[in-house]
Amino acid sequence: RMDGPTDPALHLMQAYIDGALVGEPTEPVTDPATGRLVGRVPDLGAEHAAQAIDAAQRAFRPWAAKTAKERSAILRRWFDLVIANKEELALLMTREQGKPLAEARGEIDYAASFIEFYAEEAKRVSGDTLPTHRADARILVLRQPAGVVAAITPWNFPAAMITRKCAPALAVGCTFVVKPAMETPLTALALARLAEEAGFPKGVFNVVTGQDAAAIGKVFTSHPAVRVVSFTGSTEVGKILMSQAAAGVKRVALELGGNAPFIVFDDADLDAAVEGAMVSKYRNMGQTCVCANRIYVQSGVYDAFLEKLTRAVSRLKVGSGTEEGVTQGPLITLEAVEKVERHLGDAVSKGARVLAGGKRHALGGSFFEPTVVADVTQDMAVAREETFGPVAPVFRFETEQQAIEYANATEFGLAAYFYARDVGRIFRVAEALEYGMVGINSGLISTELAPFGGVKESGHGREGSQRGVDEFVDIKYLLVAGI
Ligand code: ADP
Repeated sequence: RMDGPTDPALHLMQAYIDGALVGEPTEPVTDPATGRLVGRVPDLGAEHAAQAIDAAQRAFRPWAAKTAKERSAILRRWFDLVIANKEELALLMTREQGKPLAEARGEIDYAASFIEFYAEEAKRVSGDTLPTHRADARILVLRQPAGVVAAITPWNFPAAMITRKCAPALAVGCTFVVKPAMETPLTALALARLAEEAGFPKGVFNVVTGQDAAAIGKVFTSHPAVRVVSFTGSTEVGKILMSQAAAGVKRVALELGGNAPFIVFDDADLDAAVEGAMVSKYRNMGQTCVCANRIYVQSGVYDAFLEKLTRAVSRLKVGSGTEEGVTQGPLITLEAVEKVERHLGDAVSKGARVLAGGKRHALGGSFFEPTVVADVTQDMAVAREETFGPVAPVFRFETEQQAIEYANATEFGLAAYFYARDVGRIFRVAEALEYGMVGINSGLISTELAPFGGVKESGHGREGSQRGVDEFVDIKYLLVAGI
């Protein structure tokens, strides 16, 4: 028996290539809360990946030739359809991904916000006329769509990681092929269904499902028609894709791993800091690349912070994401649980104290207790690696300089957070943190209005805001002489 959503129209079990449903539904998609089957999708490989790119290539010129207003209208209809189907999409997402329904609804809103924003932005992708160096010539700068965009996305945000890439790409006139994570392909296919209904011509938006990510990734990075490879996922895979793309000098946009520091200074509003730490740490069971991974607390407020944090954590409710009042679903897989256990075991063996949780949850499966560990130090694995689970490791520090040094002592540079009230400190610390994004007195930073992205080994390129279209346009300079 399958636990599908109630609307079968949104429950596609085939890939979507060139406006057609392709492949046989063989690969199971399971609910991480129950292990039950949610649906099946095809196991396509290199051949279908190339077919999808060919289709996107054929669709490119006509799509780019539409007026911005025409593309905008289709995107806007897609946005309206996503919002109109929010409940169905959220339920499907919770079933295949595990996050609580309230968070799934939030993600659908977030995912839709990119479609809305870039539907509007489509009309404002303008070029320049520049002062000339010759009286008989003029300098014009065009911003033209780059061409076919191939994307690979992860399972932690099954909808938003796709729309954040495709909405700006489609808005400027690119066409798009995505390979979603095989843990969560059904949300991607439901989005394709709605894209078709919104009126995207065939070949403009394609979804390829398949188990052999490496084979599909090779085609995406080597096919001559692909102009931009956009990836969100691990740093390890990002490096593989970047080196593969180098052979064809393809542009790559990479949103990779993080190891976010969350710093609480003595002058912080402590209740606000605890609230921020809770959302930043435990959202999506700690499975986001911007989740607080290392919590540094200044010695003057260390004990008080730990007490308040532990109390807040005791109020979290673990269970199936579809149950009322649940704030913590299961982790995505048992491997994810094993990584959390490895990090915890390492910390405890080196002297960290468990203040809350610390083990698998009584519900079994991939459920894990929301955990707080104190007295964590820089030599423990949690200080260096991304845990991607519901464990809050709390470190003590003494001075502002020390906090900055600890925070920057990582090859990652995605998000950082800190809580302070002193205005001088706010500027000093914000400027010294080597991160693409800094949340100051806030544990939540994501919005379609701001440029999301990292520095160092967390990647490059920005998604969201006006900057989000930059990856998908080429600059062309025209010198018009003989005037
Ligand atoms: P995560 O830890 O989030 O699963 P991954 O980087 O392994 O991070 O996965 C993110 C996406 O990258 C998924 O869609 C996955 O299938 C894909 N992927 C994994 N390995 C490769 C590879 N060698 N080439 C291309 N894509 C890959």
